[in-house]
Amino acid sequence: MLRFFNTLSHQVEEFHTIEEGKVRMYICGPTVWNFAHIGNFRTFTFGDVLRRYLKFKGYEVTHVFNLTDIDDRIINEASKRHISIDEFTAPFINAFWEDFDALGMERPEVTPRATHHIPEMIDIIAKLLENGKAYESEGSIYYRISAFPEYGKLSRISFSGNIAGASERIDTDKYEKEDARDFALWKPVAEGEEPGWEAPFGRGRPGWHIECSAMSMKYLGETFDLHAGGMDLQFPHHENEIAQSEGATGKLFARYWIHSEFLKIDDVTMSKSKGNFFTFRDLREQGYSALAIRYLLLSVPTRKQLNFTFEGLQGAESTVERLRNFRSLVTEAKTPEGSNQEVAALVTKALTDFEAAMDDDFNTAAALASIHDLVREINIVMTGEGLLSKDRDAVLDAIAKFDSVLGIFGSSDRGSLDAEIEILVEEREEARRQRNFARSDEIRGELAAQGIVLEDTKDGVRWKRK
Ligand code: AMP
Ligand code: ZN
Repeated sequence: MLRFFNTLSHQVEEFHTIEEGKVRMYICGPTVWNFAHIGNFRTFTFGDVLRRYLKFKGYEVTHVFNLTDIDDRIINEASKRHISIDEFTAPFINAFWEDFDALGMERPEVTPRATHHIPEMIDIIAKLLENGKAYESEGSIYYRISAFPEYGKLSRISFSGNIAGASERIDTDKYEKEDARDFALWKPVAEGEEPGWEAPFGRGRPGWHIECSAMSMKYLGETFDLHAGGMDLQFPHHENEIAQSEGATGKLFARYWIHSEFLKIDDVTMSKSKGNFFTFRDLREQGYSALAIRYLLLSVPTRKQLNFTFEGLQGAESTVERLRNFRSLVTEAKTPEGSNQEVAALVTKALTDFEAAMDDDFNTAAALASIHDLVREINIVMTGEGLLSKDRDAVLDAIAKFDSVLGIFGSSDRGSLDAEIEILVEEREEARRQRNFARSDEIRGELAAQGIVLEDTKDGVRWKRK
């Protein structure tokens, strides 16, 4: 039985879905104003392990993962360059999916963009104005926190003191408010100024929090199973999502909440604003493999902080190499017909331990330990030439099961041949000619996962190995 810590109840709980066998979940995605750093990817890699594990447990998963393609930083950067916000975000969105694919993450079922969901945001704001949970002041629409007594139930922050400035994003609302805690749902934009959208309550643009309420409820319904994101989003972002959604529908929003801890560097949280970050690309350029980066990011359970070091990354590199070699050795081992009971018992134990670890609040460290134990034991069996044909199949099946969740073994062939790469590159060109960008992005992702980068030159597309 899967059990994990639910931020909403502050307890480890058994997981029960609304609809049997189905999980509807939402994870806050990136703000596409820059390249995502590996701290962001720690949270997203956990999201990938989470969805894969739910599938492993037999659930059908609908996973919504948004892109925040409008916020103050995006507007400022675009206006500095005199380009539209779409022009500004396009290269970062492409880069994001490239990195996402290269890190072996499965694409979520729905990946909505905020700017494509403004009418849905306007609907929620209109409902909140109607039922008194929002008010207008100097052209802005604010959420009236005093009208939502449950405010604070997720983060359990005490609001007795003045909390303005508790979050970097809260005090960017410089307009008149009834209460310092109230936050902007809609900000006015003058006629002729961009980006701005027409709304019954005046031309403007949405606040950040309303985006996720609109996109989650549109695709998952008013009440859904699971909502996740990084620790810093718990307050105010997720608290505000709850206030907006529950304030508008009168129903419980998400039943379970999971918050991932930070990736730190020298014990300081990795962040753009502190400048102490590495992007996935930085590390690839330094020669580290995507598999090792993924391994490192998921090696520490999500509710524990992970301190990033290059020694740790180097260690992850050797570990994934060892795992891959192990799989090749097992695949190529000469095995007489038959099965060895000792091996069958080791495989069963490893699978049981793996599932028990993941069922225990997604303890990825213990899950990895069960894989390493199996590798060590089977190596001993192989040294004594005790591995028989059925054992080999059982070990390879177990590896495939582990990897369906963790994705740390990589593809089982030793990388594609040049001819195969040429075919894929040509197929991508054809997809682009037919404006099938979904397929062309997918191929770019497949190639990136094998360490192949594509360059557009005036003579056409060139590829090279990183
Ligand atoms: P942003 O693009 O700033 O909206 O952040 C995207 C996601 O990355 C959010 O879920 C953040 O909570 C998460 N995040 C940001 N910094 C870190 C970090 N250092 N470690 C782990 N997750 C992070
Ligand atoms: Zn969000």
